[in-house]
Amino acid sequence: MTSPLIKIGIPGAAGRMGRMLIREIAAAPDLELVAATDRAEAEAIGQDSGLLAGTGMNGVLISDNPDSLVGADVVIDFTSPAASVAHANMASDQGCAMVVGTTGMSGDDEAALAAAANTIPLVYCANTSVGVTLLAKLVEQVAAQLVEGWDIEILESHHHHKVDAPSGTALALGEAAARGRAVKLDAVSDMAREGQTGARTPGDIGFAVLRGGDVTGEHSVIFFGDSERVEISHKATDRAIFARGALRAARFAAGAKPGFYDMNDVLAG
Ligand code: NAD
Repeated sequence: MTSPLIKIGIPGAAGRMGRMLIREIAAAPDLELVAATDRAEAEAIGQDSGLLAGTGMNGVLISDNPDSLVGADVVIDFTSPAASVAHANMASDQGCAMVVGTTGMSGDDEAALAAAANTIPLVYCANTSVGVTLLAKLVEQVAAQLVEGWDIEILESHHHHKVDAPSGTALALGEAAARGRAVKLDAVSDMAREGQTGARTPGDIGFAVLRGGDVTGEHSVIFFGDSERVEISHKATDRAIFARGALRAARFAAGAKPGFYDMNDVLAG
């Protein structure tokens, strides 16, 4: 007997990631798109989500009604922090699993996602690429080894549409480095430098941000030592990697117990 298809709902269906997810779902034999939504003001409301994503007509019209998502087994949300929190509350009320890839979340937003995860499986990850998930593990290990006399800087580049900085991935890499050194990132992060900054404080983790063109996402964690340098980098050239990782997370969430998960859980699962 073949397993039933996993029903997927996509809020933000008209967005860059929403359209990419719809393309990847169309190519996945075990997944079925059952709902697609966007903001009431979005031009795409009422359009066929498959046509908009470039896969051909699929009959799932883009709705402005979030309630249309509740028939899904898993809602995959790449929208905005406020929208993701609202969708997580709805998913928690309705008992449907969730994958949240939205970045720029505040501490309160993350607490709201964690609260929703008391009743549903919820995978939250600022970077759903398998490569970046492994990169963070490496960064934690290297940061634990290269301590005295080593300065850590994180450099990220993204396209000119990106609205938050540093990227959620850069912050997650900073968290990984801080974990490796057994410190809190908040206590050692240096986010902005301008003017008479004084010398670098030993132990700080610095962040630098580039924005321009159509860069999908590039991250480097650089360990500066005396007369040597270790650089660990990841370059995404197609946002399909984030969509494929999110679908892998959705398959995991569809079969998981309620809980707050990340991509490490998905790769281990
Ligand atoms: P985008 O602006 O192209 O798309 C966001 C879409 O969400 C838009 O269509 C917008 O109208 C829609 N939206 C906003 N509020 C909504 C609501 N209440 N209901 C339904 N739809 C709503 O942005 P994007 O490039 O697709 O990125 C979206 C988010 O995903 C950003 O936070 C981005 O940083 C993040 N992102 C994460 C990863 C990852 O690997 N986790 C990868 C790429 C992007």
